[in-house]
Amino acid sequence: MNSIKGFLGKLDDNELAFFVKFKYHTYMKPTQEKIQDYLEERNFNISGIETLINKNPKEKLNDNKERCPRCFSDKLRKRKVEWTATEEGFGLEDQLAVAKGFENKATYKNEIVCNVCEFWIKDPNHQKPISTSKKILDGIYKIFKGVLTTNN
Ligand SMILES: [Zn+2]
Repeated sequence: MNSIKGFLGKLDDNELAFFVKFKYHTYMKPTQEKIQDYLEERNFNISGIETLINKNPKEKLNDNKERCPRCFSDKLRKRKVEWTATEEGFGLEDQLAVAKGFENKATYKNEIVCNVCEFWIKDPNHQKPISTSKKILDGIYKIFKGVLTTNN
C-alpha cells in the first residue's frame, strides 16, 4: 500500500479530517503508521479535526457534482455490481429487473462508497460491512427480545 500517501496528498484539510475520524481505523497497523508519518510531514494538527469537520466549506457548495452526504467530498468510488438483492425490490425499476432476471439478463447497479470517509452512498447488494458497535447492539437487542418473549 505505497499509494496511501499519494491518496492523502490529494485531500484537502477538511477531507483529511473526515478521513482520520472515519476511515483511519479501517486500515491495518502498518498502513496506519504510514498515515501517521504523513500527518506529521504535513503538520496536520489532530486536535483541530472536529473544527475542520464542523466547519466544512464544501457543505455550502452548490455545484452539480455528486457528493458524499457526510463529508461532501466528490472523491467517490463507483463500481458496477451485478444486482443480486432483487427479492427486496418493489419499485418499477426493481420489477423490471426481476423480470429481466427470468430471462437470465443481469441487472447492474452502481455501488458508491465515499473514498474519503468510507460512507456508503449506494449499496444495492447490502455489502456494507457492519461495524463492531452495531454488531454489539444487535446482540443486546437479541438478548432483550429473548427476555421479553420468555416473560410472555
Ligand atoms: Zn465522505
